[in-house]
Formats: sequence, C-alpha cells, structure tokens
Amino acid sequence: MAHFPENLKPLIRCPVCQKRYDPAKVVLLSEDDRKTALHIACESCGISSLVFLSLGKAGAVSFGMLTDLDRDEVRSFYGREPISADDEISAYRFFREFRGGASECFREIR
Ligand SMILES: [Zn+2]
Repeated sequence: MAHFPENLKPLIRCPVCQKRYDPAKVVLLSEDDRKTALHIACESCGISSLVFLSLGKAGAVSFGMLTDLDRDEVRSFYGREPISADDEISAYRFFREFRGGASECFREIR
C-alpha cells in the first residue's frame, strides 16, 4: 500500500477498545500494493493484535486478531513456515522416546 499509514489511519484501531493507535508504535510486518500486515500493542487496554489491511473493489477493509506475541516475538515469527506434519511426527517420536523430566527436556531441545 503506497500511502500507508496516512490514508489508512482511521482503519487502524484496537479491536478491543477501538482506540486509535499512534503510528509510531505500529510494527509493519509486510506490505505490498494491496495488502498490509501490522502488529499493534494498544497503550490503552494493553492488548496486542495483528491487523491486516487490504484494498479491494469495495474499498479498504481491515481485520484484527488478538495475539500474545510482543513486538520482538512477532518480528521473529511472522512469515515463518508453519509447523508441518513431519515436524509433528518428529516431536511425537522425540517425546515417545524421552525418559527425563521437563528441565532435561528443554535442555535437550536447545
Ligand atoms: Zn485497546
């Protein structure tokens, strides 16, 4: 979206308390000419959300969803590949064979 955030400011609101955000506090996650993804932490209610803005034939549309990811975490995880069936099978096999407690488990995974 070429004119982000000026023409889209009215759409960028907290999905919980509807407060408008300070654009300086918004983390831009991805952007192209028709879609934008943002991470926003609301200073009013403390909720973090992912906000997706898109431009279509009907105009600009926004969609917000709550997240427990903070700014640093969302920068790290956004856009990564999702967990695959092979990942799940590997985790299943690891835990099936593992014979330690939780602290040994996390030491082993690192
Ligand atoms: Zn809020």
